[in-house]
Amino acid sequence: MDAIVSLAKRRGFIFQSSEIYGGLNGFFDYGPLGSELKKNIRDCWWNDMVRRRDDIVGLESSIIMHPKVWEASGHVAGFTDPLVDCKVSKQRYRADQLFFAPVVVDGKVAGYVSALESENTAGDLQAAAESFKRKKALQGALAPVIAKDMTEAQPEEIEKIPSPATGEPGSLTPPRAFNMMFETHVGPLRDSSAVAYLRPETAQGMFVDFKNVVDTGRVKLPFGIAQIGKSFRNEITPRNFIFRSREFEQMEMEYFIHEDADWSKCHQDWIEWCRQWLMSIGLPESHLSLYAHPKEKLAFYSKGTVDIMFKYPFGVQELWGIAARGNYDLGQHAQASGKPQEIFDEASKKKFVPHVIEPAVGVDRILLAVLCAGYAEEDVKDEKGNVEKRTVLRLSPRIAPVKVAVLPLLKNKEALTTRAHALYKKLQRRYAVFYDDGGNIGKRYRRQDEIGTPWCVTIDFETVEKPGDTFTLRERDSMSQRRITEAELFALLEEQVY
Ligand code: ATP
Repeated sequence: MDAIVSLAKRRGFIFQSSEIYGGLNGFFDYGPLGSELKKNIRDCWWNDMVRRRDDIVGLESSIIMHPKVWEASGHVAGFTDPLVDCKVSKQRYRADQLFFAPVVVDGKVAGYVSALESENTAGDLQAAAESFKRKKALQGALAPVIAKDMTEAQPEEIEKIPSPATGEPGSLTPPRAFNMMFETHVGPLRDSSAVAYLRPETAQGMFVDFKNVVDTGRVKLPFGIAQIGKSFRNEITPRNFIFRSREFEQMEMEYFIHEDADWSKCHQDWIEWCRQWLMSIGLPESHLSLYAHPKEKLAFYSKGTVDIMFKYPFGVQELWGIAARGNYDLGQHAQASGKPQEIFDEASKKKFVPHVIEPAVGVDRILLAVLCAGYAEEDVKDEKGNVEKRTVLRLSPRIAPVKVAVLPLLKNKEALTTRAHALYKKLQRRYAVFYDDGGNIGKRYRRQDEIGTPWCVTIDFETVEKPGDTFTLRERDSMSQRRITEAELFALLEEQVY
C-alpha cells in the first residue's frame, strides 16, 4: 500500500486535499493523471451502463435536495454509525471497528485489551493479552481471546476496556448513534428551517425524479435510471487512502421491475453484470468475491444484498453493493409527498409501485482497486543486459490515462520530430496521448510503464528512410517490440480502447 500511495503522489494521480495547509482528513484531490483515470472509469461505466443499453437512461440530479427527501428515505433518522469517544484523548472511533476481549487467566477475567480493526484483529488482541499478562506478572494459563466489537460490549464492561489512544481503561463512552450526513443552510437564514444536507448517496435522485423520467423518457418496465456524482458522508474514521473518504463519487443505477417479476433472477443477473464489468476494465477475477449479507442484518424492506468484494492490500473489502430494495423507496416518497409513484401496466390494466434492484459502486474504490491490482515491481534487463528494476502499472487500455506515448528516437533530427509530431497531433484528436522526446529511449519507456501507458510508438530512422512509414510499437506488459503502420495503430486502438 505504501508503494502505491507513493506512486500516486509522485506521478500526479492523487494528492491530499489542501496539502499546503496540512491536509483535511478524508478528502483527496485527483491530479493530472488521476483525473484522466477517473474520467475513463466513469466514461466506461456510462457507455456500458447507459449508452450501449436500450433499457437504461441517465440522470444528473442536484447534490442538495429538499430536506424532506432525506426524512422520507430514512436517512435523517437512521443514517448513522455507532460512535465511541475517548474522553481523555478526544479520539473518536467507529464502535464496530473497535474490538476488545477479556483477558482470561485460569478461568478468571484479569482485565481487558482492545485493538482497532485490522487484517488480523484477533491476532492483535491475543498479542495484547499476552503482553497484559506479562506486565501484570500474572501466573496461570491464558485462555485464547474471544474478540467482540464495542457494539457488543455490556455496560459494565465499557469502563474496563482500555482506550486504544491511551492504553488505559475508563475513558471510553458507550456507543451512540452518529448521523453521517453533512449539514448546511440554504439561503441567508441560519435557523433550523434552512437546514439542508449534502447527499450521502446519489440514489434518492433517481427515486425523486422517477415520475419525471417515466412521463418524459419513453421508458417501459423493466428499465433503469443511472447517475454518476459526488456523495458526502461524515465518516467517523476515514481510512485506507481513498477507500473510505468523506467526499467521494458514486455510480448508481436503479433498475425498476414489475412487482411480480422474478426479482431474485434479476438480482443475480445484475451481480454477474457488475462482476463482468469489473473484469472488462482489468480487475483480475482472482481478486473478486461475493458476500451475501445475512438475512438478520438486512433492513426490513430489503430482499437481499450481495457485495462484490475486492482483495485490497489491507484486506478483502466491499467494492460494489447490489441490493434488492423492493418498492420501499418509491413507496416512502409517495407517502411523504402525497404524489403517487405508480406505473400503469398495460397487460394487467393495473397500477402499481415498481420494485427495484440497485447496483451502487464508488468510483474512488474502483480506482484504488485498479491501482492495487495493476501495480508491480519487476526485475528486467536493459539494452546492455544489466538487470534493473521497473515499476509497472498494468492498467487496461480502456482506462489507462495515457493510451499511447509518441517518442521520436532523437530530438535533434528534424525528419524524426516532424513525423512524430504529425502522428501525435492525429492521435490526439481521438485519444489521450503523450509526446516525449527527453532522455534515452529506455528511460522514456520506463516513465510510461510507471503510469500504465499500454503502448509506446517510436519514430526511428526506419520510419523516415525506408518505405512503408512504419513505427516501432512497444507493448508495456510483454515489453515486446514490432513494426506497425499508422493504419494498424489506429485499428489496434479502435479495438482495445472502447
Ligand atoms: P461501507 O459499508 O464500506 O461503509 P456502504 O455499504 O455504506 O459502505 P453503500 O451505501 O452501499 O456503502 O454505498 C455504495 C458504494 O459507495 C459502496 O459500495 C462503495 O463503493 C461506495 N462508498 C460508500 N461509502 C464510501 C466512502 N466513505 N468512501 C468511498 N466510497 C464509498
